[in-house]
Amino acid sequence: MDRHSSQTFRSLSEKVGRFRLTGKKLLIPQMNRIGGHLLAGIFRSFGIDAHVMETYRGLDLGKEFTSGKECFPCQVTTGDILLYMKEEKERLGPAFDAGNYIYFMPEAGGPCRFGMYNKHQRIVLDTFPELQDLKIGSLTSKDSYSLEGMLDKEQARSFRKAGYFSVVVADVLDRLLWRIRPYEKSRGAADAFIEKAMTVMADAFEAHGAALRFDPILDALDAVIEEGKGIIDPAVPPKPLIGVVGEIYLRTHVQSNQDVIRVIEKFGGEVVNASIAEWVNYTTYDRKREARIGLRLSFKQLRVKKIKEHLKSLLGYGIDLSYQQMRQNQVYKRVRAHLDLAEDHRLDRLENVLQEDDLYSFDVGTEACLSISGILEYMHHGYNGVVNVYPFTCMPSTITSSIVKPIMNRMKVPYLDAPYDGSYQPGREASIRTFMYQAQQHLNKHGRGSESHS
Ligand code: SF4
Repeated sequence: MDRHSSQTFRSLSEKVGRFRLTGKKLLIPQMNRIGGHLLAGIFRSFGIDAHVMETYRGLDLGKEFTSGKECFPCQVTTGDILLYMKEEKERLGPAFDAGNYIYFMPEAGGPCRFGMYNKHQRIVLDTFPELQDLKIGSLTSKDSYSLEGMLDKEQARSFRKAGYFSVVVADVLDRLLWRIRPYEKSRGAADAFIEKAMTVMADAFEAHGAALRFDPILDALDAVIEEGKGIIDPAVPPKPLIGVVGEIYLRTHVQSNQDVIRVIEKFGGEVVNASIAEWVNYTTYDRKREARIGLRLSFKQLRVKKIKEHLKSLLGYGIDLSYQQMRQNQVYKRVRAHLDLAEDHRLDRLENVLQEDDLYSFDVGTEACLSISGILEYMHHGYNGVVNVYPFTCMPSTITSSIVKPIMNRMKVPYLDAPYDGSYQPGREASIRTFMYQAQQHLNKHGRGSESHS
């Protein structure tokens, strides 16, 4: 190994991982805006100085420091961190010290490039002498995003619970926006309201997150939902119901997907987007599944030590998954007492859906597991159309498209692939408009689907 490679290797192993957050400024990139702010609220409740970075303004920088072969979310997030640090340096002058910051960039394993974003970004950061001390705080789906090592063991456990709760609440706020905005009495009311609601809920998490006091958080959520409901004009008839699936970053990052949900709404639709909690549940479900497979194999090989290890993992991830489902049910039950927001798909149900039709397997992994089965579930629930949103060249989403498109054609359910790479395509609006025309025809012929998924 030459000197340069060994330096890079050392940097990847020493400056990407789990670092103590105490006393550092934690920088959270925006994926879904509300989720980022609620998460920052919880970090603050644990005494961590957490900030949500602005996004997309640094895209030119992101493109300058990538080759164009990377996935689009990698370019966007690279630009976000480079611009943030550049502006901090200008703001603080000689007092600037990159060692005071930790940039939060989780990863996912599997046959995908997301596990490489933080490595690539490390290499880019190391090309700036003044940014070499900026550490990348990374969690991984390999252990279902555990925070041990970043916080004390007890705190990490509490954080995991509060963090998951915030993910579900953020999903609910997003779904509230998509439920009320197409029916708002006055234009702009839903957006203004949700911005205010995000601050209210972030404050609630900051006040109660670390102590795991979920009741006052739910009380605040009750009030938000009740107020949001008042924005709906009951005289507006139900609109075609559109399900969105796809790559998690693109389908939730409004700037990267050129606000596709708003464009669908502009042409007459109401949208339910796949949630973030679904991905978190999937990573836990998948670890549990792996442990079960490992256990079966070690029994066959009579490897006692391995049997014990797999049993422990099976039990641990089983408890985590049950806890997550319990919390998710608790939140949706509260919320649905006020308003008919769509619930999440259950993971075992999604796996069965794929098995029944022998279309794909959880053994292969990636988000295609969720997107393909999610689309089938939308179809089973009578949705009037489905949009698959993803970064141009995204592997799991391309697999999804190739498997699902013929089925949707056969079933005569409107379907649209919406890949994005930062460029503006002149025909994009026309294709969404045509898709919405088909969705309206579908609604006229078959009626409207139901938001309830459970
Ligand atoms: S899911 Fe798609 S965009 Fe994300 S890392 Fe994999 S290939 Fe890239």
